[in-house]
Amino acid sequence: MKAIRYYGPGDIRLDDIPEPTVGPKQVKIKVAWNGICGSDIYSYYSIIPGLSPTITAPHPTTKETLPITMGHEFSGTIVDIGSEVDRSKLVVGQHVTIEPSWSCLKETCVQCTTLETQNLCPKLALLGVSGGCGGLAEYAVVDEHQAHVLPEGVSLEMGAMMEPLAVAWHAVKKANVKAGCSALILGAGPVGIMILKILKVNGAGWVGISGRAEKRCELAQLHGASSAFNVAHSGVDVVQETMQGTEGRGVDVVFDCGGSQDTINAALASVRPGGLIMNVAVWKDIPAIDMNLMMYKEVVLAHSFVYAGDHEQLLQTVAQGKFADLTSLITRRIPMEDLVDRGIMALIHEKHEHVKILVHP
Ligand SMILES: [Zn+2]
Ligand SMILES: [Zn+2]
Repeated sequence: MKAIRYYGPGDIRLDDIPEPTVGPKQVKIKVAWNGICGSDIYSYYSIIPGLSPTITAPHPTTKETLPITMGHEFSGTIVDIGSEVDRSKLVVGQHVTIEPSWSCLKETCVQCTTLETQNLCPKLALLGVSGGCGGLAEYAVVDEHQAHVLPEGVSLEMGAMMEPLAVAWHAVKKANVKAGCSALILGAGPVGIMILKILKVNGAGWVGISGRAEKRCELAQLHGASSAFNVAHSGVDVVQETMQGTEGRGVDVVFDCGGSQDTINAALASVRPGGLIMNVAVWKDIPAIDMNLMMYKEVVLAHSFVYAGDHEQLLQTVAQGKFADLTSLITRRIPMEDLVDRGIMALIHEKHEHVKILVHP
């Protein structure tokens, strides 16, 4: 079968590899759609530290070295199931979305003893990033607990959006956002706009969002932002806009999806005293943080990493149709051959036009 494999920064190839076969507790999926993620773009420039193996150092869980099959945001149809899979839950023909995270599940691992902390397993792996069957291939084999059946009426395209939506869901859940809360989201990428959507569904009050591309700001407005500001325009100041929007109080919670010195500075200046900053970003450079200002304001700096035990509740909400219009974030659909030129490159150089690009293997 055809699969996209990652050999290292700048080296991504369309290879012919053997079709995977199911183990006793696994299911085989014919992949329908796989979304291109910010982490795929990151890996185009450098190896993702901690999660990705190298050519010589295998990942501790997958035991694989590069090359690996890429893709972790995917959906598909079950075409085969292993002999020990619970057939009351999974059967051939079902449409599923894949939860690509995968922890050691050893009894001696404290983090793995509860579902809610499995994302913190020191040996956490992500399909398509750490090894295993990535979604940028015609077929993938996954463990049964990684396949979640899509509710009736939810498309396979939407199914490929569940992974980033789960990232956003986990962040909002961890921020403990109450109805009426005010919030600022730094970064109007797919996860930023999804956080916005979830906040609005949860009855948040004023929600501002900052971005660097007109199209993304427009989409954010469409999805319920009280104010969407393009910081690429001179004279647009996130802190000023936030203070204006909250009558000088500052917001209850800031979601930092940008991960830069500018965003953390803006977060600290925009959050109200006693408020919360939720970091959702992977940082390229380690920022300097004004600890004194954090103390005077008693600001809590918290972090949200992927998801853990979120999919069931998320899919129940998806089944109610509350996120159906998020497919408007899909700006292009491409075959695997075009991954680099019309996918990764478009997301780097044509941010004004593209938000989420889906690949159809
Ligand atoms: Zn992703
Ligand atoms: Zn573990």
